[in-house]
Amino acid sequence: MNITTEVFRIDSINFEETIKKAALILKKGGIVAFPTETVYGLGADALNPEAVRKIFRAKGRPADNPLIVHIASKEQLYKLVMEVPVYATGLMDAFWPGPLTLVLKRKNVVPDITTGGLDTVAIRMPDNHISLELIREAGTPIAAPSANVSGRPSPTDAEHVIADLAGRINAVIDDGSVKIGVESTVVDVTGDIPVILRPGGIGIEDIRKLAGDAVIGYNDRLVGGEEAVRSPGMKYTHYSPQTEMVLVEGKGGEVSDKISELVATGHENGMLLGLLITEETASHVSADEMYSLGERDKPEQAARSLFTGLRWLDSRGLDVIIVDGSVKHEGIGAAVLNRLRKAADRII
Ligand code: AMP
Ligand code: MG
Repeated sequence: MNITTEVFRIDSINFEETIKKAALILKKGGIVAFPTETVYGLGADALNPEAVRKIFRAKGRPADNPLIVHIASKEQLYKLVMEVPVYATGLMDAFWPGPLTLVLKRKNVVPDITTGGLDTVAIRMPDNHISLELIREAGTPIAAPSANVSGRPSPTDAEHVIADLAGRINAVIDDGSVKIGVESTVVDVTGDIPVILRPGGIGIEDIRKLAGDAVIGYNDRLVGGEEAVRSPGMKYTHYSPQTEMVLVEGKGGEVSDKISELVATGHENGMLLGLLITEETASHVSADEMYSLGERDKPEQAARSLFTGLRWLDSRGLDVIIVDGSVKHEGIGAAVLNRLRKAADRII
């Protein structure tokens, strides 16, 4: 696969023209990476099976791992799904546009390839002006997983997309860094109560304020065996740097002590070590390369720096990346810990 990847650096002057060019590629069945508020997505016309197939090929994504369909209006939603429970409408009204994906019973217009052969489809309305205008201009819902090679850390900047997918996709709209930095919260709303399939940009606490009986249907470890898998994505390795990665969890002080110990032992053995680390821990310990996760109590800072930090440390020729897991687990912090646990080779 070697196609020319156009890079559209978008600004307020060329905005309309850039959206038109990108939308035309999508209408013709091409694939275009674009910014959303969560991470960069790799888009195709969700109703065109040939176009969607190109996404799977470009990413090397397993065919049974379904895509999220992005819409710009509620009218688009009702063309794609059968019935919508009342509590699901409440979630939509509260969090759309935003980082909440709802899994609903699909109509037949949605092709099998988009849903990994399931009778449900995952849908969200992104809170990003470029995404919304692109979907409107293309005149069709856009299927878009994260715009990275399958298994690698998600892309939070156009540079990450280019590093992974140049030569494999038709274009990327470059708008710099994204706002949130981790993917959407995925909620199955096909039953009587909502089931959270993936933590993400919307905190589980916030979903429970509206739908109090929401239950957790995900596991931070890799899930094996057919029964346990409610969302196909749970089976696959995710978010991983190429460098060996160790995650250290626990209370602040314990984490600082453990990381100091790991650094001392690693250095005795002549290793080059990187730290993805909170400000508080960084005041006690240092290593060869460091990237900040922000303050422990502000998980939204960790969400924004997580994937950029992993990619940067991965490029530094290190032997091991040690990650500080003392970030607060609440709100978006649950999504941060989930991504770190899935990415880690070892958890201490
Ligand atoms: P990504 O596109 O990489 O953000 O991943 C989308 C996530 O949503 C994956 O974990 C998918 O398995 C999950 N997903 C998408 N569609 C469905 C569906 N119909 N039912 C359950 N999970 C889904
Ligand atoms: Mg992804």
